[in-house]
Parts: sequence; structure tokens; C-alpha cells
Amino acid sequence: MKPLQIQQIPAFDDNYLWLIHNSQNAIIVDPGDAAPVQAYLHQHNLQLSGILITHHHPDHIGGVAELLRSAGTPIPVYGPRADQQSGRIPTITHGCQDGESITIDALACRFTVLDVPGHTSTHIAYYSPDLSSLFCGDTLFAGGCGRLFEGTPAQMLASLKKIAALPASTAIYCAHEYTLSNLRFARAVEPDNARLAERFNRVTEQRGQGISTVPSQLDLELQTNPFLRSASPDIIRTLQLNNKLSGNADEVSVFAAVREWKNNF
Ligand code: ZN
Ligand code: FE
Repeated sequence: MKPLQIQQIPAFDDNYLWLIHNSQNAIIVDPGDAAPVQAYLHQHNLQLSGILITHHHPDHIGGVAELLRSAGTPIPVYGPRADQQSGRIPTITHGCQDGESITIDALACRFTVLDVPGHTSTHIAYYSPDLSSLFCGDTLFAGGCGRLFEGTPAQMLASLKKIAALPASTAIYCAHEYTLSNLRFARAVEPDNARLAERFNRVTEQRGQGISTVPSQLDLELQTNPFLRSASPDIIRTLQLNNKLSGNADEVSVFAAVREWKNNF
């Protein structure tokens, strides 16, 4: 069998859909739109063999029904078990929960499911040890993290810590190109972080040339993403200097203060 490849499919203004294929069969992560996926499948003669969903937002599931219609044969749709049970994502055929291992037979590809609530209450992520890759939807972004629409800061912090515990070489396949604005904010939060300054310059150049900055890598995120650095004394000091943090400097309070600042940045 040919080795697996991961293909980026841009959609809407700034979404990335991720297609994993072996030159014959393919699975798609978070197909918010069907048309660009269908075009790629057609162009490269690929058979769609599965769909992975991280959460229920329309820019992540909007194309699912159409892809199922055009597939011709029934294909498995993986997604949060809670959303299958509640009917929030009615197209899910395989409800997944934390720690579960799933195998996509057509690709002989294995994923471990992580519950990562925060952006939504039922958000999940898919980690592939074989590909050293994490598909994390709107949880961890390159240089940032998702907004807390349904979860608490404590939940999101715990979810991000779960991700932070993966091998440092893990490639981070998030669902949006938000990196430059995330890093602009990160620089305000941690102005003396040299690695961050270097990353900001590189990303500024890449975006100027229309180059994608995703996937990222976990070790780079650990060094430069303020949402993974709530214990950093420099971040705590900056928050205090800017009157964004009063009293407790425990990790949840620091994380909540950084998230709140970003919401209004
Ligand atoms: Zn979302
Ligand atoms: Fe999204």
C-alpha cells in the first residue's frame, strides 16, 4: 500500500479541511464544504472512505450530507458520541469518546480520540501515532486557541494540557489560518519571548506570500503559544502590568485572563 499523505484543502475565507489518502482511498476531516473536497477527489481519482468530525459548527460539518449523497456507498462518519446521541450531529454513524481507538480500514490508519471540551462542550480531537499528527479542529490553533463558546476556562485549559502532553514532534493540523493575528496578540502578551519574535517575523513573511502556516508543530506551540504558557512568569507579569489579572495567579486564572484579553484585542 502507498504511504499516507495529508492534503490541505482550503475552504471559505480561512478554513482548512484535511484530506488523508493513500492514492486510492481518502478520509476527510471537518468538511465544512463539499465542493472543494469533491473536486480534489475527482481530480486525483480518490474514493472517499470516511469522515472525521471534531465539532458541530457549520464550517466543520456543512459538507457532510452532500459528501454522503455523492459517495454512492455508505461511508462511516466519526464524531463526538454526545452529539450523535443528542442528535446535534445526526449524520454521525460512529460516536467516539475519550481514549477510544478507531481504525479506518481502507487506509489502515489508527486514531486515538481525545475529548477536548472548551470551544464547544463536546469537541473531540483525533491523534494519529502513525502519522505523528493531531487533528484538533478549533481547540488549539497555531499561536492561539479557539474561543470558549460552550466551555469554561478550566475545561479548555485541561484540554490544551492533554494536547501539550503528546509527543513534542506532533504536527498540529488545526482548522483555521489564524496564525498571524494570533501571533500579533501573543507578542503583546509575551514581548520578550525571542522564539516568538522569530516566529512572528517568519509568519508575517509567509502570509505576505500567501503561504499557509498550518500544520504547526507542538514543540513550537509550547514555546510560543500564550495559551500553552499559563505558568510563564513573564505572561503573569504582563497581565498584571496591564491590569488584566488581579489577585490569584493560578493557571486557570491566568489562562482565563489571556483568553479574555484576546477576545477584546
Ligand atoms: Zn468552531
Ligand atoms: Fe471553525
